[in-house]
Amino acid sequence: MEAVEQLKQWIKESENIVFFGGAGVSTESGIPDFRSQDGLYHQQYDYPPEQILSHTFFMKKPEEFFRFYHNKMIAADAKPNKAHLALAKLEWEGKLKAVITQNIDGLHQDAGSREVLELHGSVRRNHCMRCGKFYGLETIQAQAGVPRCSCGGMIKPDVVLYEEGLDMDTLNKAVAYISQADVLIVGGTSLTVYPAAGLVDYYRGKKLVLINRDATPLDGSADLVINGKIGEVLSQACG
Ligand SMILES: [Zn+2]
Repeated sequence: MEAVEQLKQWIKESENIVFFGGAGVSTESGIPDFRSQDGLYHQQYDYPPEQILSHTFFMKKPEEFFRFYHNKMIAADAKPNKAHLALAKLEWEGKLKAVITQNIDGLHQDAGSREVLELHGSVRRNHCMRCGKFYGLETIQAQAGVPRCSCGGMIKPDVVLYEEGLDMDTLNKAVAYISQADVLIVGGTSLTVYPAAGLVDYYRGKKLVLINRDATPLDGSADLVINGKIGEVLSQACG
């Protein structure tokens, strides 16, 4: 049986599917992986993205952080793609329990997904570091440079930076969903970013599906490997 047909069958039979996705889910909406450095990168920035996106850097050089953040992390015009829409449909049909994502763009919610666990936070939530006041994405976009609260404090995006821990509540929920899942679909991630990548180890079922453009370190332990575009694969398998 062709791999996509096998996935289609498993989806049809299951009412406890969990999806775990990475940057590849968003790239099909035109959002580049922020780790990718194009030819212009070194003309525009003096530091590698991993350094700019660290807590230390944020505290020491917020102007430079937000210059990168505005240019590379916020994609206000991006729309959900076929992968987001297929997953939202599965949830509405009562088949999918949760989407666990490493992405911070909020596109799963735009597609209609309700149970979305954002391991690395979201650009759509921001808080004043002094008084704790909440701000949406519009405030960050509207202010060039370092965004400031009405109290004068600096506003920090609820995005997990390097050196910062993941939110334990979100992580625990993700572990619970994965450990109880019947079908676990992992897509658009090279499974190299820890600790998020270690979550797959909590899966106890026999229907681990990996959908990725390229090979991943977990291909050998997966029950089904599909190399292809995640949007196309999911829309075919859910159609
Ligand atoms: Zn404030």
